[in-house]
Amino acid sequence: MNHDTIVALATATGNGAIAVIRLSGAGAIAIVNKIFKGKDLAQQPSHTIHFGTIRDNGDILDEVLVSVFIAPHSYTGEHVIEISAHNSRYIVERMIQLLIQHGARAAQPGEFTLRAFLNGRLDLSQAEAVADLIASTSAASHQVAIQQMRGGFSTILKQLREQLIQFASLVELELDFSEEDVEFANREQLRVLIAEINDVIQKLIASFERGNVLKNGVPVVIAGRPNVGKSTLLNTLLNEERAIVSDIAGTTRDTIEDEINISGVMFRFIDTAGIRDTHDIIEAKGVERTRAKMRQARLIIYLADPQQDDVDEIKSQIAEVAQLDVPFVVVVNKVDLLKQDKLEALRAIEPLFISAKNNVGVEDLKYELLRKVNLHNLDAEDVLVTNIRHVDALRKTEGALQRVLAGIDSTVTSDFLAMDIRQALHHLGEITGSVSTDDLLDNIFSKFCIGK
Ligand code: GDP
Ligand code: ZN
Repeated sequence: MNHDTIVALATATGNGAIAVIRLSGAGAIAIVNKIFKGKDLAQQPSHTIHFGTIRDNGDILDEVLVSVFIAPHSYTGEHVIEISAHNSRYIVERMIQLLIQHGARAAQPGEFTLRAFLNGRLDLSQAEAVADLIASTSAASHQVAIQQMRGGFSTILKQLREQLIQFASLVELELDFSEEDVEFANREQLRVLIAEINDVIQKLIASFERGNVLKNGVPVVIAGRPNVGKSTLLNTLLNEERAIVSDIAGTTRDTIEDEINISGVMFRFIDTAGIRDTHDIIEAKGVERTRAKMRQARLIIYLADPQQDDVDEIKSQIAEVAQLDVPFVVVVNKVDLLKQDKLEALRAIEPLFISAKNNVGVEDLKYELLRKVNLHNLDAEDVLVTNIRHVDALRKTEGALQRVLAGIDSTVTSDFLAMDIRQALHHLGEITGSVSTDDLLDNIFSKFCIGK
């Protein structure tokens, strides 16, 4: 257990009723005992809560509830104390100062979770999932984070690693007998195993595309010629949302407002400032720039206005969008102004008909967006990779495994084979943290806030 004891506010600063101050380390119980009056905390069993007062010399600073967690049965694996106090900034600041005076130290960002990792309470990918879970804003991002935190991903990786380790040891055993040309590791079995592992890894890599958009939102671009109604459509989509999230109404537009949660999936309208300001995507001055934006999108809503363009023109616009190779939905706007014959002619394109201004057909459009990205109805067991660091490591693992396969085929010597298997193990281990460097840990945990 760590002998220096860290302290930080675990709850957000702000107007909540209660503030929780957390300590972790060998001295946690003893330090709080010095300023807590009510019970001797050192005599209390783990997972119990005690009422009392926090005192500075004789003065009562606050009435509090103190939760006791005895190592190793705590989040960090160390002694942990949580003090629930009244959430006054003054109380919180003085209490933390008091705890520091009595021997605690202010925690670094992510230090509680770092300790949980170092003490084997969580592996690295689970620790990262804690951050994702706290940051999750939609049902879907919540689901992938909680899956990862509970270890779904880690379990798969551990199994793969164990199988590989067995073979690595067999191959390495051969090195001791190099004169005699023995094979402890059956090459055919090894090939089958590696092919199986590669299969799993490729699926995990492929899941990143879904995992990433679930975590960060599905990037959508609304495209179309000037005045077809792009801004109106975006406003209609956002306005409905605003009815639910009322506290952002009236604020100046920022990125948050451009996110729309549809049935638990977050859609993110990328660079919509551009859409609003230039009012056209296809014919803007920087055609290339806007094309680039469309290519970044996971989905394009192509909006057409039959008051402006005839059916053939719309068709040729669609052909242009199709060339971008990004999934798109063709939407004909201003259906309220549409004459019957033109409507019939447009059916050939199989568009969605809407009126952005009158909020007609917009629900169908939302449904179509969901259907196109195919991200709802996630299976709770689905393991999705959401972290770019993990995909990187998986790709490197895959590379090493390919070398192992090539090595088996060209019957390279055991030492080369062993080296590539060890490489693959190394990269797999980077994900869960069985292999980690101080730099890597720094990089991950410094992104956490203080108190987490
Ligand atoms: P943008 O240039 O594509 O962003 O187009 P705007 O959203 O600025 O809309 C251009 C014009 O079309 C505005 O006057 C809108 O009020 C109008 N408009 C948008 N949607 C509809 C609709 O569904 N029906 C009708 N009649 N007019 C619409
Ligand atoms: Zn516009």
